[in-house]
Amino acid sequence: MTEASALSKVLYIDLTNRRYWIKERGDIFKECLGGTGVAIRLLQEECKAGTDPLAPENPIIFCAGYLNGVFPLASKTVAMFKSPLTKNLGESHAGGRCGVAMRMAGLGGIVIRGKSESPVYLVVNEYGVRFKDASALWGMSSSSTVGRIIRERETGAGVRAIMRIGRAGENLVSYAGVITETFRHFGRLGLGAVFGSKKLKAIVISGRGSLILKDARGYRVLYDELYRNFTKTTLMKKYHELGTPMNVIPLNVAKSLPSRNLQRATFEGAEALSGEAMSERFLGRRAACAHCPVSCIHIAALRVPYESEPHFYKTKMISYDYEPIYALGSMLEIRSPEGFLQLMDRVEELGLDAISTGVVLAWATECMERGIVGPEETGGLVLKWGDYRTYIEAAERIAGLKGGFYEALGKGLDYASSMYGGEEFALAFGGNEMPGYHCGLATHLGFLVGARHSHLDNAGYAIDQKLNAEGRKAEPTEIAKMIFEEECWRQVLSSLVVCFFARGVYTPEVVSKCLSVIGINFTPADLKGLGESILRDKYEFKFREGFSFDKLRIPKRVTEIPTPQGPVTEKDLREGIKSFEGLLKGLKSIENR
Ligand code: SF4
Repeated sequence: MTEASALSKVLYIDLTNRRYWIKERGDIFKECLGGTGVAIRLLQEECKAGTDPLAPENPIIFCAGYLNGVFPLASKTVAMFKSPLTKNLGESHAGGRCGVAMRMAGLGGIVIRGKSESPVYLVVNEYGVRFKDASALWGMSSSSTVGRIIRERETGAGVRAIMRIGRAGENLVSYAGVITETFRHFGRLGLGAVFGSKKLKAIVISGRGSLILKDARGYRVLYDELYRNFTKTTLMKKYHELGTPMNVIPLNVAKSLPSRNLQRATFEGAEALSGEAMSERFLGRRAACAHCPVSCIHIAALRVPYESEPHFYKTKMISYDYEPIYALGSMLEIRSPEGFLQLMDRVEELGLDAISTGVVLAWATECMERGIVGPEETGGLVLKWGDYRTYIEAAERIAGLKGGFYEALGKGLDYASSMYGGEEFALAFGGNEMPGYHCGLATHLGFLVGARHSHLDNAGYAIDQKLNAEGRKAEPTEIAKMIFEEECWRQVLSSLVVCFFARGVYTPEVVSKCLSVIGINFTPADLKGLGESILRDKYEFKFREGFSFDKLRIPKRVTEIPTPQGPVTEKDLREGIKSFEGLLKGLKSIENR
């Protein structure tokens, strides 16, 4: 039994020498609450300026937060590293069971250093770390098989998390992800390639500890209130019923759903790939991250024939979300839900990030359409909108780094377009491929200035949607301020570590109450200050590694296709970037507060 307020242990693992040790780091947990706040401090300590993201010196850091395992929807874990995709700050969040498993193993954080000589997987629990030979798992064609074998070999069913990479990670594809609990991901910015560079195939974490609350009675009252809020709202009910694909139809109706490499902002196949249609035709079951009553994870059951026995079928369970439907569906004009699911399944087995893969393939298809590349470059493949079979083959080649063109695609869109041309329709922001929103100025400004260049940094798209609902437009400076405030607050949520779907409930006042029943005192004003400090620290890391707002490339395509907020102009985007930079420079880091 551990006090819930005692989150302080960081497990250090040295893969080179196969050693591990635990350090008390209560100092930074108390100051930064866990998750992102602690991870950026550990990254500053561990990652020297100019470190090659694929070198042994690049650390992998996992952090849980004070609310993990205590309150509903505090179900995520933060991973931090230097990204092989952007060559800068890498941060990725996953649901599933990792955060809770870490806490129940008595850990607040894990830092992985060095590189193993041969493929290895790690088994972490309250008794220590075991280094296990993963040579037989290395090179397997499906990450699902790897998960199944580890599940059968290791104990801890029901309380463990199993993170693993696929072939894309082994082959150092810059946007390879890490799959956890089969249906959740540390998807973005290439954590899978950092695993691969260390010959680290998988990590199993489990713990059977429990937590003691300082104010048990107050906890029960607050927990019940939060539980009611999460289960009774129409929005959460919809997340449960349809999952994030509930957004497909509204975004399409609003002309904000990018399709055909954003040559259009509507998609003719939207109906067939909508949350409603997918649920009706394919929903096999729902799943939830640990400690979440919403259960928004939707898993399709797809019958597919065996290759050698066409009259015999196997049923594949494939999770689907809004973002993969955008990237591997509408961006590639795949209208067949069966085709989309098969492509999704293979991308998952290979361990590629679905968003980056879809956006890269959409760019490659447009390059082919325009004659910028031909069958000579693609090794004979003819990429055509909607042709999911060819896209599956192209994804195989990316994951296997087969040939110059696929090797370039495997390094991300900024790299591939710098080699082959077509930069004006290469939809990457700060080196990260674009998420599925074309809602207005705030959307694209958010991608550009967000610390991870992700829709999750500041949800600029939600600001555009709100402005639309109010029937108004805003100046770039006002939008930059809204984005900035949202991103500052999200640093607190991702330090705790709370699912962003819960952001409407976890207000500064509610978070302050939650911490108080655990025995930690942070006023709403303290929390606001903390969020600002963490954002500042993240940007300090980015600047140190060469990031500059002035060097941000704006893909011309986003200025060519009108949004519901009207056309987005480069002038407005640059003005918004300047305003955001000004707000950021006005912040103080934690040490100087
Ligand atoms: S709402 Fe969905 S993503 Fe968020 S914690 Fe619950 S199951 Fe996980």
